[in-house]
Amino acid sequence: MFLVRSLQPFFSGIGLGILAMILHECGHLVAAAALDVRIRKVGMKWNKGLFTVRDQGTVHQNLLIALAGPLVNLLLVASGAWYPVFGLANLCYALANSLPIEGSDGLRIADCWRRIRRGELAN
Ligand SMILES: [Zn+2]
Repeated sequence: MFLVRSLQPFFSGIGLGILAMILHECGHLVAAAALDVRIRKVGMKWNKGLFTVRDQGTVHQNLLIALAGPLVNLLLVASGAWYPVFGLANLCYALANSLPIEGSDGLRIADCWRRIRRGELAN
């Protein structure tokens, strides 16, 4: 019984992280649907978590869809007033996904922003 009680915070944290990840991905999906960009696949990989494969869309569509995931997590940080651990999980997820590293939303956002500033608006 002691072991189960000891591990409860660990599994609770993992569950909240998975919920934050699912809601993050839903943000991308809702944004893509709202912008009429076709979703080709939603999947899960052990080393990447949930992911979506979609049509590229325009650079503006791509920017908004990439922003939507971290934005959902940032909005859910407000839930920390009632459920601090869930707010923290969302803050961590938003920050981790906003870093401009390979395959992240942050790198996609930075790339879109750079293309928009250069005037590459077609795609
Ligand atoms: Zn994302």
